[in-house]
Amino acid sequence: MQSPAVNQAMDILKLLRQITEGQDTIPVKLDKIMTMIVREMQADAGAVYLVVDDNYLELFAAAGFNADIAHKITLRINEGLVGEVAAGRRSLAVVDAWKHPKFAYKPEMGEEKYKSFIGVPLIRWNRAIGVITLQNEKPHEYSRLETEILETVAMVLSEIVSSEEMTDYKNTLIKDRGQSERDKFKGLSLSKGYGLGNAVVHRRRQSVTKIFAEDKEKELKRLEVAHTRMNNDLDEKFNSTQLGIGEHTDILDAYRMFAKDKGWYKKIADNVGSGLTAEAAVERAYEDMWNRLSATSDNYLKERLHDLRDVADRLLSYLSGDIAALSPVESDNIVVVAQTMGPADLMDYDYNKIRGLIIEDGTPTMHVAIVAKALGIPVVAKIKGIFDEIKTGELLAVDGNSGYVYIRPSLPVQEKIKAKIAEKAKLAAKLAELKNLPSKTKDGTKINLYLNVGLSFDLDYIESTNADGIGLYRTEIPFMASEVMPDVERQMSYYKELMDRAGHKKVVFRSLDVGSDKLLPYWSNVGEENPAIGWRSIRITLDRRAILRKQMRAFLRAAAGKELNVMFPMISNLAEFEEAKETLMIELDKEKRRGSDIPARVNVGLMIEVPSVVFQLEAILKQADFISIGTNDLAQFIFACDRGNPRLTERYDVLSAPFLKMMQQIVAAANEAGVFCSVCGEMASNPIEAMALIGLGYRNLSMSGSAFGRVKSMVRTLKLEDIEDYVKILLKSNKRTLRPQLIAYAYDHGIEIY
Ligand code: PEP
Ligand code: MG
Repeated sequence: MQSPAVNQAMDILKLLRQITEGQDTIPVKLDKIMTMIVREMQADAGAVYLVVDDNYLELFAAAGFNADIAHKITLRINEGLVGEVAAGRRSLAVVDAWKHPKFAYKPEMGEEKYKSFIGVPLIRWNRAIGVITLQNEKPHEYSRLETEILETVAMVLSEIVSSEEMTDYKNTLIKDRGQSERDKFKGLSLSKGYGLGNAVVHRRRQSVTKIFAEDKEKELKRLEVAHTRMNNDLDEKFNSTQLGIGEHTDILDAYRMFAKDKGWYKKIADNVGSGLTAEAAVERAYEDMWNRLSATSDNYLKERLHDLRDVADRLLSYLSGDIAALSPVESDNIVVVAQTMGPADLMDYDYNKIRGLIIEDGTPTMHVAIVAKALGIPVVAKIKGIFDEIKTGELLAVDGNSGYVYIRPSLPVQEKIKAKIAEKAKLAAKLAELKNLPSKTKDGTKINLYLNVGLSFDLDYIESTNADGIGLYRTEIPFMASEVMPDVERQMSYYKELMDRAGHKKVVFRSLDVGSDKLLPYWSNVGEENPAIGWRSIRITLDRRAILRKQMRAFLRAAAGKELNVMFPMISNLAEFEEAKETLMIELDKEKRRGSDIPARVNVGLMIEVPSVVFQLEAILKQADFISIGTNDLAQFIFACDRGNPRLTERYDVLSAPFLKMMQQIVAAANEAGVFCSVCGEMASNPIEAMALIGLGYRNLSMSGSAFGRVKSMVRTLKLEDIEDYVKILLKSNKRTLRPQLIAYAYDHGIEIY
């Protein structure tokens, strides 16, 4: 026989189905659902809130409150009792809601007479997508059974509100009320972050109208004056901009050299000599070059064409005297909008005031994006037609995380962006506060926290976080940002800069990990059916041994007199690791024979990214000085799930027993063999996942600089003994994901997981 609670739940579910299968419109259905639930649960009022714009809970339907309050009540996630339920992703029942510290009074609702409150989250794919609430006039202690019934209802409701019909309804509503869809553009995110500011439309391309010159001498003089002024201004701008060193400055230097290139100038002057105006001569010089280079499949040369176009446009502006667009703009918050842009163009503006950059064209390897990233400016690119849509002065919002641009953003959008900016600032302040505090758990165990670095501005995190060292240096990043394959000298300068910045701290260099999604502009990339499991990473560098040898030489020289840690990515078996290690050892021998200064110690390790090595760990651990787990690739291979495919991102979870068990096996084997073991995949950058890793036995985590503060505050609020016990229990679960349990655990135990 079934319990009365189960029967009551079944009755409600039956009624729910009847309502949802009916012919009513969505708002009517939602109203009917709420009226029915309030009645069946013997409550006096109730409401359903849905998450909109990621940050807000909006009341969609209610019963027992003032009429017409649907869509008039919004709460931030974490605001009020409803926000608390969504943030904690778990049910909350209180006898006297008014006395609860989180209670937020909304006079528009007419809830004065209600005392007791229960809220249950609607969860889908680990995320809170809404909250259902009930309220009672008389003080009422909601029983466990009542909570369970409402949780069952919430489960079904989650499915209903995730339906296509409901999503369409939600989108239409949001569209009509807030941001018009016409003014919301989706582009490609080239640099993350959020920004709000007034549009500054970067100068348009000048069209050349006068072709032939009457006076050659006068024309040559004009050219000379414009060219000299342009170069003087460029020099001044570059010298007054505090950019630090790194590949972004290399790019700007290259641009400056291009602007000064004598061959280019001579070509233009020759064109003037043949009777053209200075403007037409600049265009002709560009066209000549374009004709010669545009057919090439060489990306490097194509990139040069971009630079040439940028420099030509700049010179045309000087010739026409139209350098107004190059002068500073009167606003403290600007968003620069360009059709296309060269890296130096950014220097036309006070970069401290640039809150965002929007480029109509654009590619991920585009130089201006690298420079913008180094300056912390969000960039969204590849939005066809946006340049003509925006007028100087208009308010713009840029969401560089998801690649959205909003023209004349609605108030909710503005608030969302402001909240994100504030959130970032708050985290930065928190990070600064934590800097000099130890990364120890509450019960005193040290968890070593390292940084993953790539771009040179990542190096600033060494000082700002006071990390224990660099757990992963992605050496391919400077290769990707460079215009030609860097030679040993150039590589050595990158590596040495890093070693110097790290001081006495540990630095782990990873050998070149290119291929798949990491392409080098100067390499023609063979089209592969399955690049993620294709010719990439160590497979390339073992086949093109000279590249690997050169890199090893650069590592050895950069670490002269110090400890050198080298690890190889994407190793699939012991033989491959031995081969790579041997290459390093041969280079070490050569350096010794040459009489060069060598490192005081060389440690060789590998990344655990390909599942086959997990089954050969015992043998591998005898040969390796350390291992580091690349959970990004390891998870994609374990679940046979492309890490870059957005359709699959939420399907499998690293926080599930199969993956966690494997992670446990790896750390246990490494500990047994006495081999240093760390995690450098994204798992270590996410507080809740890092918490699970610590529970599994990991004591060394390497993460992106931006995640450092959040992970550290998690560590400092964690009790090791408890999480170890809890994770042991979780490993027995066959649930698709253990994320909700771990999140609830963190909430229950006061562990900070921002
Ligand atoms: C990984 O795969 O987890 C990793 C750290 O390497 P990358 O993300 O650079 O492939
Ligand atoms: Mg990897």
